Amino acid sequence: MIRILGMKFSDLETWLVDELHQKPFRAKQLFTWLHHRRATSFDEMTDLSLKFRSILKSSSVITHPEQTDSIASEDGTVKFLLSLPSGPAETVLIPEPPRFTVCLSTQYGCRMGCKFCMTGQAGFHGNMTTDEIVSQLYTVAANSENRVSNVVLMGMGEPMDNWDAVRNALEIISDDRGICIGQRKITVSTVGIPGGIRKLVDMGKQYGLAVSLHSAVQETREMLVPSAKAISLSQLKRDMLEYTGTTGRRVTLEYCLIEGANDSLKEAAALADYSKDIPCKINLLVYNAVPDLEWRQPSEQTTQKFIDYLYPRCQAVTLRRSRGGEVAGACGQLGASILKK
Ligand code: SF4
Repeated sequence: MIRILGMKFSDLETWLVDELHQKPFRAKQLFTWLHHRRATSFDEMTDLSLKFRSILKSSSVITHPEQTDSIASEDGTVKFLLSLPSGPAETVLIPEPPRFTVCLSTQYGCRMGCKFCMTGQAGFHGNMTTDEIVSQLYTVAANSENRVSNVVLMGMGEPMDNWDAVRNALEIISDDRGICIGQRKITVSTVGIPGGIRKLVDMGKQYGLAVSLHSAVQETREMLVPSAKAISLSQLKRDMLEYTGTTGRRVTLEYCLIEGANDSLKEAAALADYSKDIPCKINLLVYNAVPDLEWRQPSEQTTQKFIDYLYPRCQAVTLRRSRGGEVAGACGQLGASILKK
């Protein structure tokens, strides 16, 4: 059976015409039902003939995750625990009016193995398909009173490690015949893998890029992010410059401050030096302690010293208040459902 929610418009049109022998105009009708009106069954598509609906039913399915739980944090962040065809997923809604951001997962677990991340410690359990990525967004959108305005691919998994499915999902969710999230409102977050950022650049689109740097010292970075052994900081910088040069957009450098690991002034100096010739903004995030992992949050004083060092030296620095810490929906805290498998 075709997982129809995972077909971008051009694929849907080809399939309808070549395989189901339908007229091309059917593609827009169907795409609108699936991605704009977000029908969860073919029976809802009342302006399609019964015969056509019956053909669709016998050849395809609409993925509709079962919501197994949702946990709301005091700051309004909601973590959704979803049951997808291939496993459990965790998706987070972050309300920061007027922005309502959904953080999507792209893999079951992750093979990057970041030492401070619960998902990384859960190991890799498989890639998500395009429909599984897209349907997370639709489930959260259906449960949100406010229109979802932004999407970040920053949940479980490394998006560049599941590129084909992620690329299709990007095209579907930014298609103006569907849910129509603007390209500039969608951010792909990566730890940086060889050739990964180039694939985003090659799309020739305006999607945002966030790089989880966590240290500008190669040795520290490899200690925190074992997959960084495969890519040097200088190569990563070249990749980022290719992105900024091609898109005209700044890249966001994500830096999670962890006590005793990357919070020293030596690390701050390395970060200031590394980032000075990259059009970027630096997002500092104070680590959320994860049960069973040894890493801790730096003190207020250490955090402030780090920021005070960066402010006069860097183009733009923000300290991002972590959202959803109490529901384990914050950065590095997803994956509990995988661990419990
Ligand atoms: S921080 Fe991101 S890339 Fe690293 S293990 Fe966790 S999910 Fe994977």
